[in-house]
Amino acid sequence: MPPKSPPRPVSVLKVQKRRLPWKRLTVLLLAINLVAAFINGWSWLPTGRSTVRKVQQQAAKLPVISSLKGKVIFISPHPDDETLAAGGLLQDIQAKGGQVYVVFLTSGDGFALDARVTHRSVTATPAEMLRLGNHRMQEARNATQLLGIPQDHIYFLGFPDRGLNAIYLQNYLTPLTSPFTKVNHVPYSGTVKPGAPYTGRELEDLLGEVFYHISPDVVLAPTFFDGHPDHRTAAYLSTRLASLYGARLYFYMVHGGVEWPLPKGLHQELPLSPPQQSLQGVQWNRYLLTSEQQTRKIAAIKAYQSQLKVIPRFMWAFVRQNELLLPAPIPSAHELGLQESTVHTPKVHAPKVHAPKVQRPTVQASTVQLLSESHGAALRSRYTGSD
Ligand SMILES: [Zn+2]
Repeated sequence: MPPKSPPRPVSVLKVQKRRLPWKRLTVLLLAINLVAAFINGWSWLPTGRSTVRKVQQQAAKLPVISSLKGKVIFISPHPDDETLAAGGLLQDIQAKGGQVYVVFLTSGDGFALDARVTHRSVTATPAEMLRLGNHRMQEARNATQLLGIPQDHIYFLGFPDRGLNAIYLQNYLTPLTSPFTKVNHVPYSGTVKPGAPYTGRELEDLLGEVFYHISPDVVLAPTFFDGHPDHRTAAYLSTRLASLYGARLYFYMVHGGVEWPLPKGLHQELPLSPPQQSLQGVQWNRYLLTSEQQTRKIAAIKAYQSQLKVIPRFMWAFVRQNELLLPAPIPSAHELGLQESTVHTPKVHAPKVHAPKVQRPTVQASTVQLLSESHGAALRSRYTGSD
């Protein structure tokens, strides 16, 4: 009688081969869900529920800040930052007698996917990107109008989206050519200086000119913690100018990591807490919105249809019970050993390239000393020069 033949391994292999795709598919679906939960904070997942609890607990610890007073400049690297970060606060400042000005540094003409979706185009040619820039500027006019900001308080500089960092650090004197629009100067009408070259010097001068004419009491600028390089460059520029003008500076956050803000989507009933990485060593404040302010903020966000078509859940996630402000650690006049009036009264900046429209104030010796200590010899010679 022949010995029993052992089980045929081939069939086992076949079974394993049949099961393997299902296992892979299950693991893949699980991974996709986890990533989606991480990014979106879906409330129906355990991770989402704990996220909501964490957001509520962290926000509750933050001190509440009341409205800001006086003339307030909001530095907006792109059309929509002003509405997302401070759409409620900007309404309140005006309702309480303050004045709000918004400076858009770029026209948002570097978002290729946005150009394709907005113009239903397969390609995003330089011409399409310029069209997008004009489109987003109009959206910004509509949104700020809905927030009650007078249109003559809106300034567009027209610098290149995703180019500010390079302009400020590498192209300070030599114009940068935008890889998206292929132009090296401001191409838009309705800007502060059409045709201005894309250099760091020009950007600094134009923004300085706006500061000079407004003489702000308060500056709202992106934080250094922001993940977008345009925003960080705006933080450097704004900090220097706020310091120069003795204006109070507050930071805001828009890009706090792919997972922030959590949860994504419209959750008006939830607070907004800062991203974890920006909590180290700083004290964010929260400004509380009324339901009326939320309603107008929603209307202003709807003005940004080009953005809503691409990143709707990110946009809606900024409509919350509160907005976030981080007081900047700029030393007070008292800490610097100066009289308060010495810092706040004189406006010492005169743009080098463009003559100011009003008479240039006298520079006080103590202010020049402050500048020299704070910004170095190069900046001192520039801002206190005779031209
Ligand atoms: Zn932005």
